[in-house]
Amino acid sequence: MTTPIIVSTGFEGGSAILTGIDGDHVRIRLRPDGDSPDFNWFYLRVSGVRGRDLKVSIENASDLSRLAGREEVPDCWTGYRPFVSDDLANWRRSDASYSDGTFTMFPQPVGDTVWIAYYPPFPMARHDAMIARAVNDPRCRLETLTTTPDGNDIDLLRIGTSGEGKPKAWIIGRQHPSETMAGFFAEGLLKRLLDPADGLGRHLCETLDIFVVPTVNPDGCLRGNTRMNARGMNLNRAWRETDPETAPEVAALRERMRAEGVDFCLDAHGDEELPYIFLGGPLEIPSRSDRLARLFRDFATALGKATPAYSLSDPYPGGPPAEADMRMAWNSIAEEFDCLSILLEMPFKDCHRDPDPDMGWSPDRCARLGASMLDAIEAVRPKLRPAG
Ligand SMILES: [Zn+2]
Repeated sequence: MTTPIIVSTGFEGGSAILTGIDGDHVRIRLRPDGDSPDFNWFYLRVSGVRGRDLKVSIENASDLSRLAGREEVPDCWTGYRPFVSDDLANWRRSDASYSDGTFTMFPQPVGDTVWIAYYPPFPMARHDAMIARAVNDPRCRLETLTTTPDGNDIDLLRIGTSGEGKPKAWIIGRQHPSETMAGFFAEGLLKRLLDPADGLGRHLCETLDIFVVPTVNPDGCLRGNTRMNARGMNLNRAWRETDPETAPEVAALRERMRAEGVDFCLDAHGDEELPYIFLGGPLEIPSRSDRLARLFRDFATALGKATPAYSLSDPYPGGPPAEADMRMAWNSIAEEFDCLSILLEMPFKDCHRDPDPDMGWSPDRCARLGASMLDAIEAVRPKLRPAG
């Protein structure tokens, strides 16, 4: 007699609704994220699988919405392979297929328990470890931006010191909980920035006043949400006329930005559909200018030189909008502070410029991109403040 299969999501970031188990076949549904049409995130543990030919199907895979005007980009499941771990330390991609609205995964477990996730989780313990490493550096200090409705602190890491004419550079991430690549990205960026043997890292710590908020939405991360915070708000749609009741995270962040100033901001995200890295610049905001367009082009060009994974020629998905969506952080910040504010989107799939058939766009590559980002920041650093 074989042991029964047990499916669990009762842990940090866990999310899936079990609908049935037939032999070696587990059927789940993605859990809706408030009333959002985006609920890609899944993260589940399956036990009792030793020796089984395990198959896990997502029955409502085709219920996800698609962004308008993206007909030239495949949907999120086409070309995507899920992540599997046998020990929560190492993650690999697994084979999968998508047909008739069902996405089916073939995890090939090694032991008796396997974890399956949309992207490798970046748990809060890993966030805490990243912060703890940073604050051991005498150039860093830690502040609490605010405490969330679920009682979690939002950490603000201050690096360097303010000084006359020093640009204020902000790096933020994980407004969207499921986009865990933003955590790995921040880890890689901080590692290089604070590496005493890295000349560019040292130079940037001396010449910039740096603010890092790696996890803007800890409530959503802990709850295993795709986009939402604890109040059911998509924080990257909360930057116009921010309601402190529903989006206290954004209200606190914006208040602090107003108190300190912003000369540069990078907001790290992941994109479910794009098979490439995308940078959005302040090109469509009402007060767009040649200065901001030039800064963006210089930044993007420098990133393309720093890593073969990025090119400015990868298009705005669906074409650039006629008008910027001012509910989004990058646009709202660019408009208010007349600064270079950038949206970074990393793929869940692979990066078609520099593909890795085995791992696709992996956490390690997110971290390396974070390190490469310092080259792009340095390329624009002397010009971040308007002359005069
Ligand atoms: Zn996002």
